[in-house]
Order: sequence, then structure tokens, then C-alpha cells
Amino acid sequence: MSQGPRVTVAGGGVFGWASALALADAGCRVTLFDPGGPNASSVAAGMIAPVFEAALDPVARTQFDLLMAARDLWPELATRSGVALDRSGALAVGDDGWLEALAVALAALDARPTEIGGATARAMAPGLSEAFGRALLTREDWRLDAPAALAALARAAVAAGVAHVPEMARGRGGEDVLVAATGALPGLVHAAPELRHLSPIKGHIVRVAAAAAGPVVRSKGIYAAPGAGMAFGATMEPGVADTEVDAARAAGLLSAGLSLFPGLRDAPAQAAAGVRAATPDGLPLVGWSEAEPGVILAAGARRNGWLLAPLVARVVTACVTERDRGRYAERMDPARFRQSLWG
Ligand SMILES: Cc1cc2nc3c(=O)[nH]c(=O)nc-3n(C[C@H](O)[C@H](O)[C@H](O)COP(=O)(O)OP(=O)(O)OC[C@H]3O[C@@H](n4cnc5c(N)ncnc54)[C@H](O)[C@@H]3O)c2cc1C
Repeated sequence: MSQGPRVTVAGGGVFGWASALALADAGCRVTLFDPGGPNASSVAAGMIAPVFEAALDPVARTQFDLLMAARDLWPELATRSGVALDRSGALAVGDDGWLEALAVALAALDARPTEIGGATARAMAPGLSEAFGRALLTREDWRLDAPAALAALARAAVAAGVAHVPEMARGRGGEDVLVAATGALPGLVHAAPELRHLSPIKGHIVRVAAAAAGPVVRSKGIYAAPGAGMAFGATMEPGVADTEVDAARAAGLLSAGLSLFPGLRDAPAQAAAGVRAATPDGLPLVGWSEAEPGVILAAGARRNGWLLAPLVARVVTACVTERDRGRYAERMDPARFRQSLWG
């Protein structure tokens, strides 16, 4: 049995399992609590998409370097955990005005996509609508199948010695360290007060049962991400914390998705909703709590939890083992919001 620090990880989303695996690999004795069931991580589309996220989401624009650094850690984590990483890339299609604006945003990031014709785009993404005569292609955005990847991370962590307790954690208990990787649920706020900085953003997604492969396709207000079927996503509903499926929102997503892939019209579709946790600046809270000794936060990933997970796991582990937290840790440090919590 490991002689290292005893760590409780609260939360079995991608932050919790990725951190648990990294901590176990670093010699910690890790127990992960999560009662099971769907969470944001299992609902997600699984895009590992620094380029189009930074170009399309104003909140992520200033985070491009950090998002790229997180992505670059994925190949190692995928190899370690058995997660299948697809590097087909991502296409953007849309009307000329939207594509031009996107090209400008990409150029500002110095992320230069390749413009390709519609026939080539359809060869890469079979079933893509004939309506699109051109597309922007980047190979820098990757993807994974989120439910399968979460299961693979959990398997790898358990194989590395992590004990899984299918219950809610109530606090640090008798362990040396508590990692609060509790997503959008506020239950541990007494143990990790900085979790108060988080607010929920509900997201609907629709999965269509059909063989789907190749790049993610992005367009105005909609994406289509292959995986186990094709996922059309996702809504952004700030301030909403329930996971009920709203039929009207699901129908809107399906209709927008079918405008990209009209041939999927008759395929069975199933909607789901998850709740992302977000901080005021869009980056997660990762690092020691200033309010509670022995508590590390790992929550608040907004739209990019899958993308960020290996970087978050690395910083969490560096905190516990007192190694160098790396150049991005400060930007995710919970202390950056100190004024607004205590001031
Ligand atoms: C529709 C949708 C699509 C998305 N698509 C993408 C995408 O393509 N790419 C991407 O990078 N991100 C995507 N995201 C965002 C991503 O899913 C989240 O950022 C990420 O999953 C958050 O992971 P997490 O581990 O912090 O939280 P969660 O996945 O929510 O996991 C938190 C877990 O903690 C558990 N928990 C809470 N309290 C306790 C407690 N006290 N004790 C024990 N367990 C507890 C919960 O039950 C839950 O299982 C998407 C999100 C949504 C909703």
C-alpha cells in the first residue's frame, strides 16, 4: 500500500478521475467519492478544441495559449488511460460573412486554418450538406467520445490503486487532503468556500444514433461531433442548474444539426442536458483553498473541462506533491478571486 499522502477526491467527472489517476501515479493513496450517474463530463461532446473554442467563444479568446498547452498533454494521458483520441481535426462551415469573421478571429490567434472546397469537406465528413461550398479546416482541434473516455479514465485510476466509494463526500474526513472536483454541485461549499465563485450554465445536447466519423463540424450556433453517433450541441443557459430536458431547446438543436447533416433526419435522436460550472473569467479554480487548510479546488471548467483535464490533474498533483505547478497554475489559482469573496 502507498505510503504517500492520503487524498480524498470528491467528484467522478473528468476533473476528479483525471486528478485521481495522476495522484495515484505520483504515489498518493487516493479515494474517489461519487455516487455515479450522469454528469457534465458524461453528457459532453468531447471536443478537445483549443482553436475553434478560442476563435468562437469570446470568453476563451485570451486563454488560447493555456488551452493549447492543455491539449498538448492529452496524448500522454490518452496513452496512459486507454482513451481513444481522434485527431481528424475540425471543419467550420457557414455563410460567407460568418466564415470571414471566423477567419479574422483565427488570424488574430495566429491559428491559420486551411480553406478547402465543399467536395473535399464532404469527403472528410460524409453526409455534410451540399449547401456548403467551402470550409475552414484545422487539424489542431481533436476529439474523444466522452462517456467512453470517462469510463476509461475511471478504469485506469482504479487499476492504479484508486478506491471508488459510490457515495457523496461530506468533507476532508480524516484524510490529509480533499480535492473538491464537484462540478456545478454546491454541496461541498462549506469545505471549500471558493466554490461560491461558480455559477451554473446548463447545456442541452442531442445525440443521433448513426455511424459517424471524421472531423467535428462547427457552424454558427451549432456543432456536430462524431463519437458514438453524432452529437449536435450545445445550448448555453447561464444561471440554470437543472438537468431536465426542454423539448423545445432539444428540437432547435436537432433542426440546426440536421441543417449540417440532412441525411440523419430519420435516425433516432435522444436529448440530454448537463450543467457546466463557470467562474467569472471562464478559467477553472485549481489549487489550494485559502479558506480551508488541506483543501484543493478543481472545478469550474465552463465549456472546456475535457480539454483542460490533463492540465488540471497536473496542477492538482503538483500541489499535493509540492512540485512546480507549471506556468499556467497561477491563472487558475482560486486566490485570483480573493477580493470578491472576502472584500
Ligand atoms: C452539453 C455539454 C457539452 C459539452 N461539451 C464539451 C466538449 O465538447 N469539450 C469540453 O472540453 N467540455 C465540454 N463540456 C464541458 C465539460 O463537460 C465540463 O467542463 C466538464 O465535464 C466538467 O467536469 P467536472 O469533473 O468538473 O464536473 P462534472 O462532470 O459535473 O463532475 C462532477 C461530479 O462530482 C460529483 N459530486 C458533486 N458533489 C459531490 C460530493 N460532495 N461528493 C462526491 N461527488 C460529488 C457529481 O455527482 C459529478 O459526478 C460540455 C458540457 C456540456 C453540458
